Amino acid sequence: MSTPKKFASQADLEDKQVTFTRLSEHAYAYTAEGDPNTGIVIGDDAVLVADTQATPAMAADVIRRIREVTDKPIKYVVLTHYHAVRVLGASAYAPQEIIASRETRDLIVERGEADKASEIGRFPRLFRNVETVPAGLTWPTLVFEKAMTLWLGQLEVRILQPGRGHTRGDTVVWLPRDRVLLSGDLVEFDATPYAGDAYFQDWPQTLRNIAALKPHALVPGRGPALVGEQRVAQGLEATSAFVSDLYASVKAGAAAGKDLKSVYRETYERLQPKYGHWVIFDHCMPFDVTRAYDEATQYPDPRVWTAERDRVMWETLES
Ligand SMILES: [Zn+2]
Repeated sequence: MSTPKKFASQADLEDKQVTFTRLSEHAYAYTAEGDPNTGIVIGDDAVLVADTQATPAMAADVIRRIREVTDKPIKYVVLTHYHAVRVLGASAYAPQEIIASRETRDLIVERGEADKASEIGRFPRLFRNVETVPAGLTWPTLVFEKAMTLWLGQLEVRILQPGRGHTRGDTVVWLPRDRVLLSGDLVEFDATPYAGDAYFQDWPQTLRNIAALKPHALVPGRGPALVGEQRVAQGLEATSAFVSDLYASVKAGAAAGKDLKSVYRETYERLQPKYGHWVIFDHCMPFDVTRAYDEATQYPDPRVWTAERDRVMWETLES
């Protein structure tokens, strides 16, 4: 903690190795050593993509991999939540529909512009080709509440909100026949959950709701695809443990009347031995503790992150 840390992921400039894995008859995972993942579903007559990558330039590599296994049209893009690093690549797919929950659309309306500026500052490598992102925001064309079903020919695709966690609009894609789940950032593996927009008190129950579906494979938001019920359980448990450990530490500090900076230092020291090896740990911790402190004190809903608020917070906690 003594050497000053570069803001967010600004020191992370090394390219990652992409893996494109078949998980079942219809599902593939595009993963990249802890960078944001994309899940792919290939139905009888069309392809669905869940989470798009940060830019159309990055999405072009996903499309290239899809074209190695199918020539069916990519008709559907699902936004698991509103974060720029997941949605701004959407235009590359030229989809027929961009699907999101009502809460996710509301978040885009309320804080999409602020989040776009904020995330471009946090992730210079992912947004290297930011000029390929069209002006404005990515807007859902098909909005659902709680759950919807899409039939790709005879393949049933459930698109549903298992509860709040990473954001209030969190959406997962579930293939009941293949028992594959695309979780977005509700689940991470060997990668630190970002919780700057989170609902800490809801997140563990939301993960139990996902576990109740009994997935045989799961594509997390970051990290390798989890194949087999045991690996899926590991991913769900590790994410839940991080969220619970962090919130318990922050809540205790806040209840004792400690200020945010003291709580941050204590929580960092407490969590580092167990989770410090996870990707983007140092990036996430200041945001996660700030949000947890808010939730434990006076803000039931996450406050909007702007590029400026990011910097002020970082200066305060890391100086
Ligand atoms: Zn996210």
